[in-house]
Amino acid sequence: MSEVIAIANQKGGVGKTTTAVNLAASLAVAEKRVLLVDVDPQANATTNFGFRRNDYDYNIYHVLSGSKKLGEIVLKTSIPNLDLAPSNIGLVGVEKEFYDKKQKELVLRGKIDPMRANYDYIIMDSPPALSLITINTLSAADSVIIPIQCEYFALEGLAQLLNTVKLVKKTINPSLQVKGFLPTMYTSNNNLSKQVLADLKEHFSTQLFSSAECDEGVIFIPRNVKLAESPSFGKPVILYDVKSHGSVAYQLLAGAILSGARVGS
Ligand code: ATP
Ligand code: MG
Repeated sequence: MSEVIAIANQKGGVGKTTTAVNLAASLAVAEKRVLLVDVDPQANATTNFGFRRNDYDYNIYHVLSGSKKLGEIVLKTSIPNLDLAPSNIGLVGVEKEFYDKKQKELVLRGKIDPMRANYDYIIMDSPPALSLITINTLSAADSVIIPIQCEYFALEGLAQLLNTVKLVKKTINPSLQVKGFLPTMYTSNNNLSKQVLADLKEHFSTQLFSSAECDEGVIFIPRNVKLAESPSFGKPVILYDVKSHGSVAYQLLAGAILSGARVGS
């Protein structure tokens, strides 16, 4: 059975795209059939795979505006089981077009659902806003992973995001679940990072991903230069430095998702 996962947080630069790209790649290397859908006009997930604007004619904008089917825009990536539905800055305009539509929150879901038969996992990257695009990803998803950067104000905005998830669940998508919170950019010699992780463990222990191979059993993504470098080589980190701490952490996250061992200790 396929699972559709949104990666969301309206805060900017918290590791959404890094998570979407490297989780998708790790699941594909574990021999799952994966589609990564870039639903952010910044198109960072698309460029992360080395695609440039002129490499493809159509993108998720054309799908959402109705001129192409999702299957028609899908690109093959350097990982055999991993396909990418690219984005483009042109997606910025789509929200205006949506406003005339009935059920404007469900446009993406209508495009994703027919693709479920072809993939084990469909991962969606979303923009840093609680916009109609993000509402569309939450409405199309079975679950949402929320990356949380281990820094000052880490939890700012989290209540608003969780309220939005609750509202979408109540009104549009009753089966939507929070799959888990993912602490990102953790720096082991930084007291602030330690404090954020400790706060998450104290208040949200059942929402964290777990692995016996991690310190204290909780999965977090370390700040790791290989994760920051790999996009400039057009690769997910697993193809750039498979043994780096960042790569290992995303493989553990994929393992937790495959085994269903979320979350909770
Ligand atoms: P936006 O809100 O703009 O879409 P985002 O939430 O998608 O941002 P990313 O683009 O994934 O965040 O990450 C922001 C920056 O931090 C990028 O330059 C990325 O390479 C870097 N980065 C992300 N995670 C890590 C990490 N664990 N270690 C080091 N650098 C990281
Ligand atoms: Mg991003």
